[in-house]
Amino acid sequence: MYDLPEEYGSLVFNDSVMKEKLPKDIYKELQKTIKAGDELDINVANAVAHAMREWAVEKGATHFTHWFQPMTGITAEKHDSFISPEPGGKVIMKFSGKELVKGEPDASSFPSGGLRATFEARGYTAWDPTSYAFIKGNTLCIPTAFCSYSGEALDKKTPLLRSMEALDKQAKRILKLFGQETNRVTTTLGCEQEYFLIDKEMLEERPDLLFTGRTLFGAMPPKGQEMDDHYFGRIKQRVQDYMNDLNKELWALGIPAKTEHNEVAPGQHELAPVFESSNIAVDHNQLTMEMMKRVAKRHNLVCLLHEKPFEGINGSGKHNNWSLSTSEGENLLEPGDTPSHNARFLLFVTAVIKAVDEYQGLMRMSVASAGNDHRLGANEAPPAIVSIFLGDELTSVLNDIAEGKEHEDRGKTYMKIGASVLPPLSKDTTDRNRTSPFAFTGNKFEFRMVGSELSVSGPNIVLNTAVASVLDEFADYLEGPAAESEEAFNEAMAELIRKTMKEHSRIIFNGNGYDDSWIAEAEKRGLLNLKSLVDAMPQYISDKAVALFTKYGVYSESELKARYEIKLENYYKTINIEAMTMIEMAKRGITSFILDFEDELTDILTKKQTLGMDVTKTSEYALLTKVSDGASDMEVELAKLESDVAEAQAMPADTSEEVYEVAKDYREKVFEDMEDLRKTVDSLETIIPREYWKYPSYGEIIYSVH
Ligand code: ADP
Ligand code: MG
Repeated sequence: MYDLPEEYGSLVFNDSVMKEKLPKDIYKELQKTIKAGDELDINVANAVAHAMREWAVEKGATHFTHWFQPMTGITAEKHDSFISPEPGGKVIMKFSGKELVKGEPDASSFPSGGLRATFEARGYTAWDPTSYAFIKGNTLCIPTAFCSYSGEALDKKTPLLRSMEALDKQAKRILKLFGQETNRVTTTLGCEQEYFLIDKEMLEERPDLLFTGRTLFGAMPPKGQEMDDHYFGRIKQRVQDYMNDLNKELWALGIPAKTEHNEVAPGQHELAPVFESSNIAVDHNQLTMEMMKRVAKRHNLVCLLHEKPFEGINGSGKHNNWSLSTSEGENLLEPGDTPSHNARFLLFVTAVIKAVDEYQGLMRMSVASAGNDHRLGANEAPPAIVSIFLGDELTSVLNDIAEGKEHEDRGKTYMKIGASVLPPLSKDTTDRNRTSPFAFTGNKFEFRMVGSELSVSGPNIVLNTAVASVLDEFADYLEGPAAESEEAFNEAMAELIRKTMKEHSRIIFNGNGYDDSWIAEAEKRGLLNLKSLVDAMPQYISDKAVALFTKYGVYSESELKARYEIKLENYYKTINIEAMTMIEMAKRGITSFILDFEDELTDILTKKQTLGMDVTKTSEYALLTKVSDGASDMEVELAKLESDVAEAQAMPADTSEEVYEVAKDYREKVFEDMEDLRKTVDSLETIIPREYWKYPSYGEIIYSVH
C-alpha cells in the first residue's frame, strides 16, 4: 500500500531530516544563518554536507548537482559523482562543505546577455538554504543561485529573492504602523499549471510538435471544445494513471500537489499545488513541469506545456495566485474582521492597485513570450491589457472611501477606515467568469496572464518589486501621522486611499474582458494594450523600470539589459525554429501529399477522358483545380517565408538595439508569413483525403488519449 504521509517529502532534505541528521548545535547554527540570510560558516557547511551526503547515498544517490535557473527559464544541472579515488583502486564517497555552498559550473554555454563578457569570465552557484535539497533520479540536487564573480545575477532565483526581501522590508514598515511586529513578511504563491496530454505516437508523426512543442499546421476537427463537455468531466483512466503516478513523484519531492482536473479543451488538464513561499513555489513549479514531461514518457504520453499547442483550441496558462503572509502565517490580503485588520487589508489592496496600474507595462512584459503571444489578446483567456478585477463590493467600499462617503451596505453597515468594520465580502462576487487578467479572489490576487511554459519567477519579481515600491511610498506618507495619533493615522489612511483611487481606479475593471468594447474602453482610460512581445519589451528597459529595479536592488541596469536581450533572442530564435520547421514540413511533407493526390485525380480524369467525357465538367476536375490553385498559393507563400527568414537571419544582432530590430522583423514579417502559409495549407487539408495527408489531424491528436 502506498503510504502518502510516509512518502511525502521522502526525497527531500527538509527541516525534519536536518533536525534528525544534524548535530544539535549545527542544526541551530544553520537555522540561524538561514533566518539572518548570512553566509554559512565553513564548519557548519562541512557538517551539513556530510549529513546530506550520507542521507542521499542511503537513498541511492551517486551524484550531486547545483540545480539552478539560468536566464532562459529552464533549469540546469551538471552532475558530479560523490566518488573520490583511494589508493588500491578503491573509492570513497565524499562531499565537502565547500562543494555544498559553492559550485563553478561551466557557465559559458548559458546566455548571459553580455554580462559575463563585460564583467568576469566565470560564474558560480551558491546554495540557497531557504530551498531544500532533494533527490532526483540518482542525483542530489542543491537549489542554488547563479552569479558572476562580480556579483551580477545570472539567474532567475537571485532577483526573486531580492524582490522578496524588498517587499519584506516595506511591508514590515506598514505593519509597524498598525503596531504589528513580525519576523518576516513573505510573498506566497500557488501556480495552477495547465497542460495537454497526447499520445506519444503523435509526436513521432508530427515534426512541428517534436521540434516546437506546438502544431504549425492543422485544420480544426469537427468536434472541438464547443460542447464544453471536457471541463471538469470524468478523467480517463489512462490520464488518471498518469496523474496518480505524477502525484507520487511530486509528493516524494515535497511538492504539495493538491488538485487535478480536466480543463476546457479536450486533452487539456490542470494541476494545482497548495501555495508556498514564492521562492519555493517557483522551484517547485519548475520541478513540476519537468516531472510532468518525464512521467508522461513512462505512460507513452507526451505532456505539452506550450501556451498554444493547437490553433482554435484553448491554450494553456498558469494562474499565479499571490499574497503576502507574516511569519505567523497571517494572510495580509485576508479582509479580517476588526476595523484595524480591515484597514490594513484595504491599505494593502490599494497598494496592489497602484502598483499594477503604475507598472502595468512591466506586468505585461513579464508574461511575454513567443508562446504566450498566441494567447494574450488572441480571442481567448486574458486580453493583453492589464486590468484588475475587485468585485463590486470591494470596489464600492474603496470608491466610497475615495469619495469621502461612509459606505452603506444594505442600510446597516458603515465603513470608516480604521474605525468601523468592513461589510463581509461575499465569495460569489469574486471573478466567476475568469476573464480578468488580475483578479482579487477573496484573500489573494490571481495573475492570469502567465503562460503555461513560463518560469513564474519573472512575473513575481515584477509584482513584488512594484508592490514594495508603493508600500515604501505609503509608509513614508503614513509614518508621521501614525506617530501623532490614531485619529491622524486613520485620516491619513483615508486620504491616501482617496488619492490613490482617484489616480489609479482606471485599472479596475469588473466587466467581461473578452468583450471587444473593453478594448475601446481601455484605450479611453489610457491603459496599455501591448499586443505582442515586441510591443511589450521596451517596458523592460524604460527609465521607469530601471529606476524601480535599481532603487530596490532587484536588478542593476546591466542585469536588466542582459535579460532584455536574452528574452528577445529567445523570442526570435523560437520563431526561427518554427519557421524552419514549417518550411521543411511544407516542402518535404505537404508538397508530396498534394502531388500524390493530384496524381490520383489526374489519373481518374485521364481515364474519364478516354471514355469521351467532358472532364472539365466533372467533380474531380473541380477538385483538382482547387487543389492545384491552393498548391500555387502555397508555393508563393512558402517562397516569401523562405526569403523573409533568410533576410532576418542575415540581420546583425550584436547590440541590444539590433537584437530588438531582429525580433521585430521576425514578428512583423516571418510570423505573418507563417500565418498566411498556414491558412492556405489548412484549407488544403480539409479537401485532401486522410490517406494522402500523412500527418495526423487535429482530431486524431487531441483525442489520441483514450
Ligand atoms: P481556483 O482559482 O481554481 O478557484 P483555488 O481558489 O482553490 O482555485 O486556488 C488556486 C490556487 O491558489 C492554489 O494553488 C492555492 O494553493 C492558491 N492559494 C490559495 N491561497 C493562497 C495564498 N494566500 N497565497 C497564494 N496562493 C494561494
Ligand atoms: Mg485560478
